Amino acid sequence: MGLQTSLEDIVGKDYVITDPQALVPYSHDEYLRHRNLPPLAILPDSPAEVVEAMKACRAYGVPVTPRGRGTGLAGGAVPLNGSVVLSLERMNRVKELDLEDGTISVEPGLIVEALHHYVESKGLFYPVDPASLDSCSIGGNVATNAGGPRALKYGVTRHYVLGIDAVLPDGRVISHGGKYIKNTTGYDLAHALIGNEGTLCVFTGITLKLIPLPPAQRDLLIPFSTMSDAARAVVKILNQLRIVPAVLEFMDKTSIKVAEAATDKPFPHTDAGAHLLIQLDGLDEEEVDKQMIRVGELCMELGAQDVMVALNDTMRDRLWEARRILHEACNAASSAVEMQDVSVPRSQIPRLLAELEALGKRIDKPIACFGHAGDGNVHVSILHQDEDPEPFLASLDRINTEVLSIVAGLGGTISGEHGIGSVKKKYLERWLGDNEMALMKALKRMLDPEDFLNPQKIVC
Ligand SMILES: Cc1cc2nc3c(=O)[nH]c(=O)nc-3n(C[C@H](O)[C@H](O)[C@H](O)COP(=O)(O)OP(=O)(O)OC[C@H]3O[C@@H](n4cnc5c(N)ncnc54)[C@H](O)[C@@H]3O)c2cc1C
Repeated sequence: MGLQTSLEDIVGKDYVITDPQALVPYSHDEYLRHRNLPPLAILPDSPAEVVEAMKACRAYGVPVTPRGRGTGLAGGAVPLNGSVVLSLERMNRVKELDLEDGTISVEPGLIVEALHHYVESKGLFYPVDPASLDSCSIGGNVATNAGGPRALKYGVTRHYVLGIDAVLPDGRVISHGGKYIKNTTGYDLAHALIGNEGTLCVFTGITLKLIPLPPAQRDLLIPFSTMSDAARAVVKILNQLRIVPAVLEFMDKTSIKVAEAATDKPFPHTDAGAHLLIQLDGLDEEEVDKQMIRVGELCMELGAQDVMVALNDTMRDRLWEARRILHEACNAASSAVEMQDVSVPRSQIPRLLAELEALGKRIDKPIACFGHAGDGNVHVSILHQDEDPEPFLASLDRINTEVLSIVAGLGGTISGEHGIGSVKKKYLERWLGDNEMALMKALKRMLDPEDFLNPQKIVC
């Protein structure tokens, strides 16, 4: 009996995919240049099936690559080294909502937007909101420690994970944490595993903390003539007004042009050097309106061209449209695009953007920068617009190295939220100190000496 038959016995014939055409979606994530067709994909429906499937693969010496919904941007879910894909997409149920404790236990394949809608219908809030929330899974979010625009005020995925169920590479099951906030019972295994990008375990269950849904919200779009004026406003909103917006995002001029081209609509204040997108939230409308007035007045003092306020959901959608589509818009605007997801201290954003602008001139490429002005996480998209992408692709290592040395000079880091996967692996060794790298490798070797789980990623 071969591996395929063993897996079919575990999950049923319909849930072992072997047709090469049907396997294509499982060969890549959203970093579309990196692809590899797996020999098969298996879609288990329960933690027990995950364990059995992993044991069967191990018995046949075939590695396993876990997959949520394939929206990753670092090639993390690309099956390498002959590995089969273990897709968690069918395990997408809410297991328990506990209103009294303010927690929810879910399966890993649940789409994050569905989680949002479900808890918000009960007056509760799960604030982590990656821009891909309509298509990414909560398991993928835990595996990458995903962030999102609301990270400034509300934190990232790890800040909401109270407990995990996970299958280790050798098939052992661990269950760590639970429906309690505090836990100092030995090493914090749940948090050591968050962000492992499927290289140390498969998450099969997740318990999350929920908070009350803030009932009042205002969204503002504020154009500035220059990015440095916008950056000054960011620092003053936080440090002088002492207001922490739920969201404090920016888009530079190139991003605005790219979004306009993709939507075929002129953006308000199309000539602006930068736009800030701000969301304020709180317990009552009056309090949020007061904050809105203070933020608006300060921005006008600092040279804002206008302060546009969304008064309803339609207007809110319109204000956010450009920011939401920027990833796709950058792809549409170029024959090849390279996106870095760097993080710097937020005070360094103007210097980062100035140095990237100079780099763009040196390499003769537009560089679109947008992202999270409040927390310093900037998405840097280098756009290649000539027909033939080959010369650009051949020079990518040199360009990326330049971007990363700019980031290093500003005290930043190479990945704020997308992770390392296979795409940024080669830069990790250059980035981390020898002792950190050795410790990461030792951890991987201890749990997975044969590189069975998500092979050739992060440190292998
Ligand atoms: C348009 C767009 C916008 C985005 N915006 C954001 C953003 O704002 N913030 C952000 O952080 N990211 C963002 N991303 C990146 C991506 O959505 C996140 O990394 C997300 O967490 C991936 O979830 P997924 O379910 O698609 O995981 P996948 O892409 O399937 O997998 C990602 C990694 O996690 C591992 N994995 C998945 N599920 C499990 C599991 N159950 N157990 C163990 N390992 C697992 C995989 O092996 C892989 O290494 C964006 C992507 C796109 C395309």
